[in-house]
Amino acid sequence: MDSKKFLLQEKDIPTAWFNIIPQMPTKPRPMLNPATKQPLSAEDLFPLFSEEAARQEMNTTDSWIEIPEQVRDIYKIWRPTPLVRAAGLEKAIGTNCRIYFKNESVSPVGSHKLNSAIPQAFYCKQQGVTNITTETGAGQWGAALSLASRMFGLDLAVYMVKVSYHQKPYRRSIMQTYGAEVVASPSMSTKAGRKIITDTPNHQGSLGTAISEAVELAMSTPNCKYALGSVLNHVSLHQTVIGLEAEKQMEMAGDYPDIVIGCFGGGSNFSGIAFPFMRHNLEGNKNTTFIAAEPASCPKLTRGVMQYDFGDEAGYTPLIPMLTLGHNFAPANIHAGGLRYHGAGAVVSQLMCDNLMSAVDIPQLESFDAATLFAKAEGIIPAPESAHAIAAAIRQARKADEEGSPKVILFNLSGHGLIDMTAYDRYLAGDLANYEVTDEDVARNVAGLDKII
Ligand SMILES: *Cc1c(COP(=O)(O)O)cnc(C)c1O
Repeated sequence: MDSKKFLLQEKDIPTAWFNIIPQMPTKPRPMLNPATKQPLSAEDLFPLFSEEAARQEMNTTDSWIEIPEQVRDIYKIWRPTPLVRAAGLEKAIGTNCRIYFKNESVSPVGSHKLNSAIPQAFYCKQQGVTNITTETGAGQWGAALSLASRMFGLDLAVYMVKVSYHQKPYRRSIMQTYGAEVVASPSMSTKAGRKIITDTPNHQGSLGTAISEAVELAMSTPNCKYALGSVLNHVSLHQTVIGLEAEKQMEMAGDYPDIVIGCFGGGSNFSGIAFPFMRHNLEGNKNTTFIAAEPASCPKLTRGVMQYDFGDEAGYTPLIPMLTLGHNFAPANIHAGGLRYHGAGAVVSQLMCDNLMSAVDIPQLESFDAATLFAKAEGIIPAPESAHAIAAAIRQARKADEEGSPKVILFNLSGHGLIDMTAYDRYLAGDLANYEVTDEDVARNVAGLDKII
């Protein structure tokens, strides 16, 4: 394999996260209180999140937000992450394009999620919080927050989407190894969970059901906060360390990306790789194309509606302005569990509406075709989520070759798939299927939303 790595040093870890909101031509609409439909302030979020996370969530004025020294110190365990020129992949598909990937799979938990788990746990600890609750889909966020909570001596309860709890038992073991308590959602331990089970007895769970349960527990437990691993502005903010490092590394490589790609669940790793490069577009200096790669079975960016919607299934969270399939959309049981979420974060949704980025949807089989091709060519077995970004990168390379204009393509490898081998087993055995969402499914799911926008 002749792939080439571009490495930074500890001193190159960014000292501030990049907040894109001040530079956006149209600011995202505010989150609303679901009862009064009035815009929320940071203070309104204090009961739910750490105060600093709430302030960051609402910060529309500071382009740079300092990374606490304690957080940078922990980042040093695995950051800066490598940027790799994927020469093996280029050769395997016979492209004239130059393809790079940022390798976030090298974190101790195997994904980018730790970039936000560390600061979120730190801010909780700083204000004297003792307990955290959260949800997890494929278990990546739960694993990251379990480790972050352990580092700061906090107790964590994780609601894990039921289908993943059974499909990915080792992620549950990882969380338990770090000392977290893990519950399959929907569960009988919360009002929200009991209602979902009563209405749909064999509900397989979704990120939406798990968020409802985690939020309910946080709101009813003293000195307990909730932490979210995607969708929200402060989570995307923390992930910008990815793109800020990649920017320096592309410079070392003597290249600048024509196309930047990230897979898309709620938007955090996509935002992380994309926003630092997007700021040069917004400043008028560059003309990079940004592509979010979502699963065809959960196509909120390509086929959702722009509307206020809840972040969770039961409707406990604030109303978020989002491209959504409706909060009670039940996605097919694809193996990219981290991409099974009904909506997109407010910032990305607005950027989509303003045509400052685009999206593609990838069928499950195409994602695994790309994953296995990548594994053979680069040696890394990608997470099923990340495979969507790889598939999108391959599509773009082939298109550029057909058009006879080679491009520089950068994608984010959000995680490795070594704990997802059940999914690979099923793919190799020919047992995986594609899932299509019909227009009727989408129409039915969004029909119940309040028409606020
Ligand atoms: C959670 C996860 C995702 C999807 O979440 P985003 O917030 O959209 O980034 C993608 N890849 C991996 C490896 C994940 O764990």
